[in-house]
Amino acid sequence: RAKADGGNALRFFEADMQTRITARAALENELHAAIAARQFVLHYQSQVTSENRVVGAEVLVRWHHPVRGLLLPGQFIDVAEDTGLIIALGLWVLETACRQLTAWRDDPQRQHLQLSVNVSARQFREGDFVDQVSQVLARTGADPRKLKLELTESLLHEKVADAIGKMEALAALGIRFSMDDFGTGYSSLSYMTQLPLSQVKVDKFFVHRIGLDAKVESIIQAIIGMARSLELEIVAEGVETPAQRDFLVRHGCGLCQGYLFGVPQPLEIYERELDGELPASNPAFLPQ
Ligand code: C2E
Ligand code: MG
Ligand code: MG
Ligand code: MG
Repeated sequence: RAKADGGNALRFFEADMQTRITARAALENELHAAIAARQFVLHYQSQVTSENRVVGAEVLVRWHHPVRGLLLPGQFIDVAEDTGLIIALGLWVLETACRQLTAWRDDPQRQHLQLSVNVSARQFREGDFVDQVSQVLARTGADPRKLKLELTESLLHEKVADAIGKMEALAALGIRFSMDDFGTGYSSLSYMTQLPLSQVKVDKFFVHRIGLDAKVESIIQAIIGMARSLELEIVAEGVETPAQRDFLVRHGCGLCQGYLFGVPQPLEIYERELDGELPASNPAFLPQ
């Protein structure tokens, strides 16, 4: 009997595997077509100072899937990475963000805004990454000083010297770099002195434990202290409550980003929120 059950379990397992493989193959095909079909869109989420002044936004990609509706990066970025499609997608994201910077350049209300763009490790490791970014800047006419590239610690898994070289070449153009999801990867702190970074992002994993876990609070204070002594800007992501914001500001975190100040929104809505035509998308947010 046990043997028969085992056989059934195996058949279920195989059927499940087959379903997953088919679903994954479908997703790969759809992803291929999606760029040409213009199904991707950027959402914008503000980064604000302790005085609630908006300094800019992070752009976050979404996929308007023709059947499944709006998909978040968690539902397709891994597949895009594995298939290499992230390179074309990442280039589209960068170019779209740079066009937006140029569009804002002549608008006195918006010309100060910076945009942060996520760059995947695979995209960054491409041999011609520096050229690709320079070409996007040339094509779009964007001011490189308004552009920040968010990198993760996973980029340090190999060839750190290469990474430093690329970052320095881009920094020479005026582009700045942020270390995203700081503290969740496996990087060595020694890299913090070697990489030409200008910002560290405290991961929302830490932020969400403020008020709940004294040890995590100590780690946040240590990250802020380290960043400040290295003269790096600090931004906390995933800030959802006034208590989280108050803790961060009190301990010297210069910038906050999170639902408390607005959820990521498509450009048209984001701009109307900036203008105060629409309320910021979280009712908990009350400007001081
Ligand atoms: P990330 O760069 O760390 O982005 C922060 C994520 O936290 C975003 O998720 C954002 O929507 C979400 N978030 C913002 N505020 C809050 C909050 O108050 N509470 C909570 N719980 N979450 C908040 P999203 O948009 O689903 O993106 C997930 C990840 O996908 C990003 O993490 C980034 O690693 C990646 N990603 C997004 N857009 C791109 C892109 O254009 N290119 C690449 N390579 N990766 C991207
Ligand atoms: Mg990011
Ligand atoms: Mg992050
Ligand atoms: Mg994160």
